[in-house]
Amino acid sequence: HADTAMYGAKAAGRNNFQFFVAEMNQRANERLQLESALRRALGGNQLSLHYQAQIDTASGQVVGCEALLRWHHPQRGMVAPDTFIPVAEDSGMIVPIGDWVLREACRQQAEWRNQGLGGLTLAINISAIQFQRESFPETVQSILAETGADPTAIELEITESALMQPGPVLSARLQKLVDLGLTLALDDFGTGYSCLAYLKRLPLSRIKIDRSFVTDLPGNTEDAAVVSAALSLAHDLGMEVVAEGVETAAQRAFLTERKCTLMQGYLFSRPLDAASFTSWVRGANKS
Ligand code: C2E
Ligand code: MG
Ligand code: MG
Ligand code: MG
Repeated sequence: HADTAMYGAKAAGRNNFQFFVAEMNQRANERLQLESALRRALGGNQLSLHYQAQIDTASGQVVGCEALLRWHHPQRGMVAPDTFIPVAEDSGMIVPIGDWVLREACRQQAEWRNQGLGGLTLAINISAIQFQRESFPETVQSILAETGADPTAIELEITESALMQPGPVLSARLQKLVDLGLTLALDDFGTGYSCLAYLKRLPLSRIKIDRSFVTDLPGNTEDAAVVSAALSLAHDLGMEVVAEGVETAAQRAFLTERKCTLMQGYLFSRPLDAASFTSWVRGANKS
């Protein structure tokens, strides 16, 4: 009996292992396919930027927008950034893709400037891998010069993972970007481990409260406590706060009560392609 039991366990173990290897191979294959498809996307006009409004609910005006990358694959259709950005980061493709995003967003800002919409702040997501390259500030500087974008209308959204190594190198890099006239925002606030007191020593103008903390407002008492505390501390430290993922009037009311007036979310607008956003914002800001 003992023998058969042993044999059974071993066989099952071996099968599990084979299953595991097969699954790993499949995943690795999918990733490789995605990676080479991404390489073709960059050269093949499959990438575009959509723009999502940022509202100052105190004035009711659209004050800016966030550029969000879209990949339209000829067979797969739309591929979500949460699927392909990690692949782009692992493969290093995020560097040329990130440069493309910067150039396209800056080109759009210059166009808006010529069309009388130069007052909108345009926020651009920057991957930690892109940000940590020594040449990053020079790349930004040359793209600004090349496109004629107004640096004071450009905001770079960086995540906590890009700010994990405090020191003179990080400070100098951030200062270079500020000296170019850009503003800096901390994206996905609350998902990392940094404390606001540390972040305050960096030249950040804004923090963006991650959607995961907004979704269950006002009912979730833990999220409500975190958001309230973050808001009062950020405001005391002189930083602006943008709340992401605002979908309901109740979320809006909760935030407004706590003096957070900058909001982004489906309640106001989904991300739109450039032409749709441009005409939508003209209508929205008319009154
Ligand atoms: P993120 O920077 O935090 O962007 C906000 C995400 O929340 C966007 O998802 C946006 O469409 C979504 N969102 C905004 N309001 C609402 C809402 O009311 N409800 C819901 N359910 N969702 C809302 P998206 O466009 O899928 O982008 C996901 C993430 O991919 C971004 O999160 C950002 O981390 C990354 N990403 C997007 N574009 C770029 C890019 O150009 N470069 C880099 N490095 N990352 C990017
Ligand atoms: Mg963002
Ligand atoms: Mg965010
Ligand atoms: Mg987020």
